[in-house]
Formats: sequence, structure tokens, C-alpha cells
Amino acid sequence: MGGGFVRFVLFFLCLGGGVAQDVRHLTILHTSDLHARLLPDDQGRGGLAYVAAALRQERNNCAGCLVLDGGDLVQGTPVSTLFRGLPVYEIANSLGIDVSTLGNHEFDYGWRRIYDFVSTANFPVVNANVVNADGAYLTGKPYTIVTVNGIRIGIIGAVMGGLLDGFTTPDLLGPWKVMPVVDAVNRFVVPLRERTDFIILLAHITHKEMDEVLQKVPEVGLVVAGHEHGGLGEMKRVDGRLGVRVRAYGREIGRLDLEMDVTAKKVTSAYWKKVEVTERLTPVSNISGQVREWEGKVAKAVDTPIGEAKRTIPQAEVRVMIEQSMKEATGADFAFMNRGGVRDVLPKGTILARNIWNIMPFDNRLMVGRFKGKDLPKVVTEGHPVEPEREYRLVVSDFTVVNQKTQLGTTGLEFPQAGPLMRDAIIDWVKKQRVIE
Ligand SMILES: [Zn+2]
Repeated sequence: MGGGFVRFVLFFLCLGGGVAQDVRHLTILHTSDLHARLLPDDQGRGGLAYVAAALRQERNNCAGCLVLDGGDLVQGTPVSTLFRGLPVYEIANSLGIDVSTLGNHEFDYGWRRIYDFVSTANFPVVNANVVNADGAYLTGKPYTIVTVNGIRIGIIGAVMGGLLDGFTTPDLLGPWKVMPVVDAVNRFVVPLRERTDFIILLAHITHKEMDEVLQKVPEVGLVVAGHEHGGLGEMKRVDGRLGVRVRAYGREIGRLDLEMDVTAKKVTSAYWKKVEVTERLTPVSNISGQVREWEGKVAKAVDTPIGEAKRTIPQAEVRVMIEQSMKEATGADFAFMNRGGVRDVLPKGTILARNIWNIMPFDNRLMVGRFKGKDLPKVVTEGHPVEPEREYRLVVSDFTVVNQKTQLGTTGLEFPQAGPLMRDAIIDWVKKQRVIE
């Protein structure tokens, strides 16, 4: 919404039937997976004051603009971990978001915290597939309808149907159940089709789920997605229906320019581009102020030097490093760290505790179990021969214990001994190494 009221309304008669065509313009700006990255990264990409600047710049040359966020606003930095996500929603209120949806990480602080997010947000948070036994929706709003340039737009929200398959744990979800995305969307498309000119699915979903919606739910004209951090190289097109998603951490925003034949409820042209968020933009000052304020509150705890990295360590190597620190912290023989749990690289130069928080924002704890060689998960013994009857100690995170089926390929393995927080184990390990080559 926002923007000017310039209308690109073209009326002309079709030669055949003489039916009036009403073509209008709609621009969709979108972000996703901002992950509490308040500040730009070590290469000057992202940062909420710069994301705001990019949105503002695009809005300024836009006739009929809608700003959507695809979820995972929270989780990723000390500000989010220490204040359980809420500051990010407070700052997001200045970004100009019109509608957002829940990502899997919005559940990281427990489902009750989502009520705080929803009540803090000055924009609707839509979700149609997290429901309880009474049929209530967690955010209270499965969809919303907005009007831009006279186009009535229905926006349905959804999170990945497999939320419990490795993305969150049952205790965080409480009494809520997650419906498959297509089923949930199908509940709303028929009534929305009558009341709107265009239906958007705003969803935090996998690539596969996006394809399914585009193929199986023809009423949805556009899927604006989050979750897959690499984004999309090109817009998806299935029989004139569209799918877009941008890269994570505010490194880019998306801009989709549509011409719509409102009478036929059809998109007549679509152009998608991604706008890089870099320090060439002038940061939006009130957001810079909020960012400074929140970062100031955590600086003492996290801006302490703990070592030095001679080069930037990529995520795959960080994972090996983490497994090493897990073994040393607990004296275990084997360690397993899930790949998706490594959230950042270790940048070259002085290592601050903050860098480890960015790698490991989750408050996950180390858990140790004892197993005979023959009972150890294959994923940890690969390339390391074990004696079948000898007992070994395996350390994993409490998140892996709950999600062992997807991560270890096992069920029912017990890890009775609790160790330190994973993040503390990594920080201690880096302090001991001092220099990482
Ligand atoms: Zn994410």
C-alpha cells in the first residue's frame, strides 16, 4: 500500500466480445528470513536500516505498492536470543511491512511468544495452517484482504507442513498442529476468489511446497515465499502463476511489477528483480537509532574478543570445528552437529563472542549418551571404524535428540547426561585455540 495514488488504469474494448478490460498496476516488494540481523554483515550487506532504505527507495518509484515479509524475522543474533525475538518485531514496525507470516523460527521461543509478536506488530501476521483442536488459528488471522490501486488482494499465510520434521520441537508447538500447506490453502481459495481480484500465498515453505501450490491450487496467482535461504535465481512460472523468493539476512529485497486485468482476474505481465542491500544506500535514521539502542544493550555481553581467525572459515568447516568443541567439552568419542544449525561463517580477523552467537544463536544444550559401537548412528561413524561391542560416548545437541529420526536416522536413543550450552562450549574452545588457521 503506501505509495502514490497514480493509477495505471487502462480501459479499452476487446475487438471480439466488446468486454471492457481493466488493467491495473501492482508492485510487490518482499523480504524474508531477516533473522534478527540488525547490523550489516562483515561484507557490508544487509542491516535493517539498509533494508528499510531499499524498501523506501523502491516504494518511492512505485504506483501501488504492497510490502510482504515471508517469515523468520527473529532468531540469529544476540539481540534476538537475549530478548526472545521481540525487539525485531518492534524495529520491523518501522520497515513499512504491510503483511507478514510466521516462519519456523518464530516458534523458537515457544508458541506463547508468538502472541507477543502478533500483538507488537503493527501489520497483520497471517497463517492458515497452524491450528488447534478447536479450529482456532495461532495468529488469529489465516488471511487478510488489502486493496491496492483498486485491486482487492487476498493474502493467505502458511508455514511448512513438516514443521515438526526437524524444524521445531513438540514442546515449542504446544497444542498446535500444522496442516499440509495445500490443504490449508484450499480451505480459503474459494471464498476468497469471490471477494478478491488476486490471491497471494505468503508462506515460509520449501521449494517443493511452492511448486505444489503453483501446480495444484490454480486460484493462487502468486506465491511469495521465505525459508530457503538461497532464494531463487529466476521467478517461477506455472501456467501464468508466479513464485518468488529472495535470499536471507536482508542481503536483497525482491520487487515484482505486475500488470493485472482485474476484470479477468489475470496477470497480463510480470517482471521480477532483486535489489541488493548494501552500504551504498543511506540508512533510515530512526531505524539506525533503534538498532544502536538494542545492540548497545547486548554489546557488553558479546563484543569481547576471544581469538583470531586467519581467514574466513566457511560453514562446512565451522561445523567440524563445532563438533571438535563438543567432544572436548564433554570428553565424548563422537559428536554430531546438524548442518542446518550452523547459521554463519566465522569471518576473518578478531573473533568476538558475537561471531559465535551468530553461528549458534540457539540456546541448545549438549547431551551425551553411551552406546555400543554397533548401535551408534551410521552418520557419525562413517569413515571411523568402531568395535561393535565396545562402548562409546556420543555428544549431540538437545535439538538433535528430539529430531534424531531426521538427523541421525535413529529413534529412541537416550542421551541422559546434560553438558554445557553449545554456544558456551564453542566460545571456550575458540578461547583455547586462540588462533584459527
Ligand atoms: Zn530462515
